[in-house]
Amino acid sequence: MKINTAEFIVSNSEVDKCPKERLPEYAFIGRSNVGKSSLINMLTNHKNLAKTSSKPGKTQLINHFKINNNWFLVDLPGYGYARVSKKTKAVFQQFITDYFERREQLICAFVLIDIRLEAQKIDLEFMEYLGESEIPFAIIFTKADKIGKTKVASHVAAYKKQMLANNWTEMPQYFITSSLEATGRDAILEYIDQINED
Ligand code: GDP
Repeated sequence: MKINTAEFIVSNSEVDKCPKERLPEYAFIGRSNVGKSSLINMLTNHKNLAKTSSKPGKTQLINHFKINNNWFLVDLPGYGYARVSKKTKAVFQQFITDYFERREQLICAFVLIDIRLEAQKIDLEFMEYLGESEIPFAIIFTKADKIGKTKVASHVAAYKKQMLANNWTEMPQYFITSSLEATGRDAILEYIDQINED
């Protein structure tokens, strides 16, 4: 997919105020500082579409971007700065769960995972929540350039092991990315393109 246009449409904290237009929607979410803004800018070929920030947890809104007048890219707030509570729902702000549970246009959530780290409880809990809610999702491993090519495979294998130990029967669809080197861009855009065409 070639990105011809990428426009910011609206930011808000209420699912009812999200755009009414019924375009297919792809949401990006992950722990604060995982590299979400950098990834969105890399995917859309914009330097500053999503605001990168050295201050973790800054973007606390649902941001809609319209791509090629054809689909919405949704930048969701980073999670992980709330104290980890036993109930997943308490960890994620209510409006995020509202979004996932009520947004009918949502086609797929991309869960961003820093490839350098061992599987984090909060990410595993979040994917469990998506699974239980029957929301299709894929994993995007970020910052692959930070560990080098040879370690990527072993980190992914370790992650897969953790997923299987966490009651998943298979590793979800995943992508390896580096926003610095634009790795994974074509694969993700192709994936979205294919779903949109089906
Ligand atoms: P967000 O909080 O998830 O939106 O994360 P940002 O996109 O603001 O990135 C957090 C930090 O990680 C910033 O210092 C980025 O420059 C850095 N970063 C993000 N993606 C990459 C990447 O692919 N490679 C490297 N080396 N650094 C990255």
